[in-house]
Amino acid sequence: MGDIARIELIGGHPAVDFVNTLGGDHQTLDECVHSYDDLLIWTERAHLIDAHQADTLRSLASTRPADAARVLDDARFLRSSVDRVLRAATANESAPTDALDHIRDVHADAIGAARLRMPAGAGSPGRRQSGGYDWTWPPGAPRQLAFVLWQLSRYVVDFLRTGDLHRLKRCAECRWIFLDESRNNSRRWCSMKGCGARAKMRRYRAGHTRTAPRP
Ligand SMILES: [Zn+2]
Repeated sequence: MGDIARIELIGGHPAVDFVNTLGGDHQTLDECVHSYDDLLIWTERAHLIDAHQADTLRSLASTRPADAARVLDDARFLRSSVDRVLRAATANESAPTDALDHIRDVHADAIGAARLRMPAGAGSPGRRQSGGYDWTWPPGAPRQLAFVLWQLSRYVVDFLRTGDLHRLKRCAECRWIFLDESRNNSRRWCSMKGCGARAKMRRYRAGHTRTAPRP
């Protein structure tokens, strides 16, 4: 069972790392987001929300567990649509339109609940547009627990609109995807420590078996 507090963020963009919160290999899935709190831990680690926002949402979720569970379901559903779109990109295939429409729907919902404001203190630099004004979701807004989902939808749509989708690859060992930013486009594994080391060890063992003297 994956641990959301330790999962590596190696995708190259939060939208890609979000897909990787459902890990595993091609036979077995490994879910890392088991609760709304896991969603908060991950979005804070990925810098989509800050510690103060996470704390506020955490205490709100404890008073409205059914609403929090619904946001968790919605986030996983969004993840499955992003997964399908990005996986299609890794195979140079066109994305399923129902998945794209679903992402659009979540984003439209997010923008429908947002206000266009100059963020107080301008927020963290990554979230700020060059003009200064930005979509904000004021504390205390109805459906505030969905804030994490709305933030996710922004990053996803930004990535689909402007990200280097042609650099997306699947790991040769597991179901993780990543942006290959190597100069010669040669990255094969999500991480050298995990999947890369495993593949090399297997190749090493296979080589040894082949060259071992016959009894
Ligand atoms: Zn891998």
